[in-house]
This record gives sequence, structure tokens and C-alpha cells, in this order.
Amino acid sequence: MDSLYDLTFTHLEDTLRNEGIKAIHAQKLYRLLYKDSITLDDLTPGVRDWLSKRTTTKATVVRDIASSDGCTRKFVLCFDDGQEIETVLMGYRGRYTACISSQAGCAMGCVFCATGKMGFKRHLSAGEMVAQVRFLNTHLASEGEEPLRNVVMMGMGEPLHNYKELMTALEIISDPRGICIAPSRISISTVGHIPGIKKLAEAGTAYELSVSLHGASDVERDALIPVNKRWPIADLLETCRIYSEKTKRKVLIAWTLIEGANDSDDHAIRLAQLLKGRQVHVNLIPLNPTEGFDGQPPSEERVLAFQRIIKETAEVPVTIRQRRGIDVGAGCGQLAG
Ligand code: SAH
Ligand code: SF4
Repeated sequence: MDSLYDLTFTHLEDTLRNEGIKAIHAQKLYRLLYKDSITLDDLTPGVRDWLSKRTTTKATVVRDIASSDGCTRKFVLCFDDGQEIETVLMGYRGRYTACISSQAGCAMGCVFCATGKMGFKRHLSAGEMVAQVRFLNTHLASEGEEPLRNVVMMGMGEPLHNYKELMTALEIISDPRGICIAPSRISISTVGHIPGIKKLAEAGTAYELSVSLHGASDVERDALIPVNKRWPIADLLETCRIYSEKTKRKVLIAWTLIEGANDSDDHAIRLAQLLKGRQVHVNLIPLNPTEGFDGQPPSEERVLAFQRIIKETAEVPVTIRQRRGIDVGAGCGQLAG
């Protein structure tokens, strides 16, 4: 039997109807499950009885590690089968963002990423993604804090490699009757999974899309991201163009800066040439240290010089991602369960 966290609102209504309960009760059940705005006493005895036979996905905290930066906290969560994953809470009062995992491990093998190094363990179910968000909201409420404002699918795993469960989870997370995080406040980060981006474009979803590029030629990108051989740069950028055209949204291009590998003026100029005239916004991420990869982040001056060249040559917005939670291994690419 599905966990209740696996059920979209419509699916919950259908389930209730099929089991002889009026679909109207789905409203209260969603409030009970996701908002804490009602209690069991607010349900009819029939619905309470139905609920007592159902389960929700359990995510038990194994470790809770706060960063010295004061605004990042990493939680290691364990699911019923013993599988551990990591979830990160970032931000401060009223402005909290959850970094959610979509898989345990990852099959894509990017050389600079700790999740890639651990290999693929398994996909997470929709309920396991929802459970991470629910866990963080419950944690925030227990500390008298406001609920999450943003969700980024940038934790462990390649979200578009787990497309169906991802879409179900995001439908639940964005449902105004429950957790209610607007689609425009939900961001999906992908290694450049072309079939997944095409499906997102077809579905016309309103989620933010971030594509991890990191290389301006196929030879350079192949060396960092092995799946570039399957989904090369020209095809990827063309798919992003179609995505922007269909959804009328800009794509965020993520670029992890690695000293000596992709941070020179020449790299910046070639990247700018690739991006000029496109509906994109660039986000630069200085490399975070991970075991087994001896690359280094560039100096701050180099990051700023890289930013200036892209801005001036490609005439697209360029931001620099703040480095958070590095001391507790909660930064981009450091999650390894
Ligand atoms: N699989 C997805 C989302 C998870 S990774 C993806 O690859 O996009 C989230 C982001 O962290 C990606 O942009 C990824 O390239 C970046 N990243 C991975 N390892 C990193 C590291 N060691 N330092 C900085 N960024 C890293
Ligand atoms: Fe997977 Fe993303 Fe890490 Fe690449 S960067 S190995 S796609 S999690």
C-alpha cells in the first residue's frame, strides 16, 4: 500500500472514493498531513478509522549537524529499509530553503561530486522526497520558525533520472491545500538529462530549471561529466532553448569553477559565446572540496573576473552562489550519506 505521502490530492480523493469515503474529506486530510492546522479530533470517526490503517513515510534523523556559518544545517535521514540520505536546511528567519535529495547516490559519476563517487544506490519514492520537506517544516515549527519558502532539488541524485516520482513529489509539495510552496519557488537542478528536460517542456511545468554545464567544449565537459558523451553541449543547449520557448522561462546555467580546469578568461569567453542571445541566467559555484577529487576553487578575484567577462560578452545576468555549510559537508556536491 502507498504511503499517504505518495498521494497527490487527486490520487487521495480517488483512493477515498474507491474505499467508500466521500472525496471531500481529502481537504481535511491534507491539512492534517501537511499543515498541522487541524487535529485528529477534527475528522469524522469513519475517516479516523480509515487513517489508522494507513501509513506515512518515516524519515528518522540519524545525525543533525549545524554549520559554523550559522545558517546551514545538514540532516542525515534514514528510511525504513535502512537507506540513509542527506537533506540540507539553509537560510534564516522566514527565509528558509530546503535542499532535497531525489536519489540515494547518483548514477551520473561527475568527477568532482561526492554523491557521484558513491555510485547509485536507489531512487527515492515521491513520499521519501515529500517526507524530507515535511520533516524540515516540522523541525522549523518546533523551533518557532516559519515554514520553508523555497525548495531546491539539488541534494543527492539526478532528479530527472527519477522523473515520475519527482513530478508526483513536486505536485504534492506545491499543492496550495497542503505544503503550498509555489512552483516558481521550486528549482530542479539537472546534470543536463535531455530526455527529462524535454518531458518538463512538454508538461509545461512552472518549476525553475537549473542546468549544470561546467564545460564550454565537449572535450572539456566529457572530462568532468561523463554523461556529456550521451547528452553533448549543442544538443543540451538546443533542448534548453526549446524549454525556454515552451515555458517562457529562463534557464539557469550552473558553472562550478575549478581552478585551472574551467576558470580562465579563455573559458569565460567561450562560455559567453555559447550563451550570447539565449534566455539564460548564469550561476557560478566555486568548487567545494570533496574526497577523491583534488581540484581547488579559484581565488575570489578569478571568480569576479570570470563573472565580468560573461556579463560583458554574453550580456546575460551572472550571480555567484554563496558557499554555505562547507565545514559540515553540506555544500553543493558534498552530500554522501
Ligand atoms: N544532479 C543534479 C543536482 C545535484 S548536484 C545536478 O548535477 O545538477 C547540485 C549542483 O552541485 C550541480 O550544479 C553540481 O554540478 C554541483 N556540484 C557537484 N559537486 C560540486 C562540488 N564539489 N563543488 C561545487 N559544486 C558541485
Ligand atoms: Fe549526480 Fe549531480 Fe553529483 Fe553529477 S553533480 S554526480 S549528476 S548529483
